[in-house]
Amino acid sequence: GAPVANVAGIGRAASSGILFKGGATVASLAKADTLMLDKTGTITTGKMAVHSVAAFNGTANDALGTLAAIEAGSVHPLAKAIVQYAADKGAAETSVPDMETIKGRGLASADGQYLVGNARLLTEHDVAISADVTAAVSAAQEAGDSVVILADHGVVRLVVGVNDIVRPDAAAGLAALKRAGVKKIVMLTGDNRTAAERIAADLPIDEVQAELLPAEKVEAVKKAQAAGAQVAFVGDGINDAPALATADIGVGMGGGTAVALDTADVVLVRPQFETLSQAVSLARGTTSVTM
Ligand code: ADP
Ligand code: MG
Repeated sequence: GAPVANVAGIGRAASSGILFKGGATVASLAKADTLMLDKTGTITTGKMAVHSVAAFNGTANDALGTLAAIEAGSVHPLAKAIVQYAADKGAAETSVPDMETIKGRGLASADGQYLVGNARLLTEHDVAISADVTAAVSAAQEAGDSVVILADHGVVRLVVGVNDIVRPDAAAGLAALKRAGVKKIVMLTGDNRTAAERIAADLPIDEVQAELLPAEKVEAVKKAQAAGAQVAFVGDGINDAPALATADIGVGMGGGTAVALDTADVVLVRPQFETLSQAVSLARGTTSVTM
């Protein structure tokens, strides 16, 4: 496309809610043939809500107080949903030790007595997962939910299913990106495979890679690049900043929590895939549409 048209188009893009950090980013966007996307907060709104709670070895409200006290120290969208739910239920937050973030898994106290996160976190700390617990986890995952398990002193106390809403424009916006010239769309998520595939099934997504650690998202980007792809990665900055930085072009999904999107080359001020597809079309010079 003509550079002059691009400059004018990008000027309009800025006013329509997309920020380009430097002229070279337009050329990178024009070349992108593979779109890799984070799930939580990117394909979904990240405004999560507790959907199911199963209690084990005690009452739900006692355990909820412990869980909420632990999640109060986390910025993860899952944490916010749980803290809100516990407050609504009137569960009193108990006193808990400082927790360490275990990337892609959850939170753990230094002594391992308090664990909050996925099944992998528990098994890594030698906490036994009973058939009842496994059944509760599977039920939540099959509903498309993310799952948070609380283990207190080696015993599972809660299995919480947390749901999220797919952005209403995701299906149309991703389809428009394909029309704009993106050949392949891949979901990269730290969340469980069942829920991830459930969400992808209704969208024009070609491939799902689930249960990835942030470093594994980077590896997935690098692998695609090594195979010749020009990768645009779209993420919200929570657990995916390294992938944003590694991609040929990092697109920050704005509009959510005030997460720093310093590593993004392009920022969608409003979280709309349609805006991104228009920007791709403009960058490719395939359309002169005004934004
Ligand atoms: P995503 O790539 O979808 O943003 P994350 O890497 O943030 O996923 O998290 C992966 C999984 O780790 C979550 O689905 C959850 O089971 C667990 N997890 C991460 N952070 C927390 C937290 N603060 N509380 C509970 N569980 C967590
Ligand atoms: Mg995310």
